[in-house]
Amino acid sequence: MITFEELKVNKSILKALDELGFEIPTPIQEKAIPVIRSGVDVLGIAQTGTGKTAAYLLPLFMKLVKAEGVDPRAVILVPTRELSIQVGDDIADLTRYSNIRHAAVYGGIGWTKHAALLEPGIDILVATPGRLMDLYRANVLSLKKIKTLVIDEADRMLDMGFMPQIRQLLEIIPVKRQNLLFSATFSEKVEEMAHEFLDFPERVEATPSATPAELINQCYYKVPNFATKLNLIKHLLQDEEKFTRVIIFVKTKENAEAVFKIVKRRTEGEKRIMHSNKGQNTRINAINAFKDGEVRILITTDLSARGIDVNMVSHVINFDIPPNHEDYVHRIGRTARANNVGEAITLVDPSEEYHVPKIEQLIRMEIPLKELPEDLEIVATKQEESQTQLREIDRQKRLEDPTFQGAFHEKKKFFPKKKEVKRPPQDQRKLKKYRGGKK
Ligand code: AMP
Repeated sequence: MITFEELKVNKSILKALDELGFEIPTPIQEKAIPVIRSGVDVLGIAQTGTGKTAAYLLPLFMKLVKAEGVDPRAVILVPTRELSIQVGDDIADLTRYSNIRHAAVYGGIGWTKHAALLEPGIDILVATPGRLMDLYRANVLSLKKIKTLVIDEADRMLDMGFMPQIRQLLEIIPVKRQNLLFSATFSEKVEEMAHEFLDFPERVEATPSATPAELINQCYYKVPNFATKLNLIKHLLQDEEKFTRVIIFVKTKENAEAVFKIVKRRTEGEKRIMHSNKGQNTRINAINAFKDGEVRILITTDLSARGIDVNMVSHVINFDIPPNHEDYVHRIGRTARANNVGEAITLVDPSEEYHVPKIEQLIRMEIPLKELPEDLEIVATKQEESQTQLREIDRQKRLEDPTFQGAFHEKKKFFPKKKEVKRPPQDQRKLKKYRGGKK
């Protein structure tokens, strides 16, 4: 086993690592640090939770050595505000005994505040693509000194449609630079992106692509409908001893609110909710309170959860299957961090069962099915919900077989809509007119 000293990490950073309790490098750090230090472009495949942030930050600190000049020499592009703040915090933690300066910027608030952060001079800029361009266009940021470009969570960047902005940026930063691209998953699109942005990259991987941490115990329940899912959540959360720090992922903000309503009333402990309609401060406060252990249950949508970096998450509950299968990997990666054991539980209604084998294929593991608890109250599925489920199942069948007509289609044939029959009016005067008009 190699040590941070052997990886030639600077003394000041070693001191910070020691204080942070990072005793030995994680596998991705052990693999990536020497390769990045050699100066080549790197494609890193590593989920959050593997220590991938420090895997690119440590060699970056070694390259920058110390504070120098005014303009940043490295840019770290991230897809979301939360991740920008998180990476900024990680830099602050790791450089507490070094004079390397940084700023973390993101959209959603006025750029003048961020411009002020750059003024005293910085070495590393962490930014979402849009905000970086805002600052550049406002002439408060020079990119002439950039020697390293890191693109973090590249798969998420692609999902969020940031490619045009990244291309724009590449036109204005110096050509002679080192590029590091990190992604939680390795898809065809990520491969194309790597091809476009990296020069003869060396690939380093934490685990085979998209394999979730082995420490996560995964399982799923087949649940007939939304109301029964709510009952199951209540049921599971009764176990306060096991479910100590829980993240519940919900696909949409509307459903997240509905889950929050029940959880708020019917479970013990402090709870918070995060989604894109919540103010940025509310989201940051929720993450911090969850981190500090003040909050037992955090309910969130996929996007808002990016960048949550909390150890000791006991359970991740997927209230539904994420529409994007790779999000499953992101979601469950929130538990079992830094060698802790964690559980990931997924609730699957009939219209979601289609996705289970697809996810299993992606993670190259079988997710065990669990029986519903005997004392769980199972609610009958409302007609509207049942129809929505059937429609979705039809859609999935058509995806697999474009010639499939669909159960709905069949039904329509069996029960044709009644033709409107014009009946004679009841009113005598109108009846006369009706008969008269018929002649
Ligand atoms: P990341 O994959 O970058 O999101 O990091 C996941 C978590 O692991 C963070 O809480 C880090 O602070 C922590 N971490 C990173 N490197 C190490 C290490 N070598 N030893 C222990 N914890 C670490």
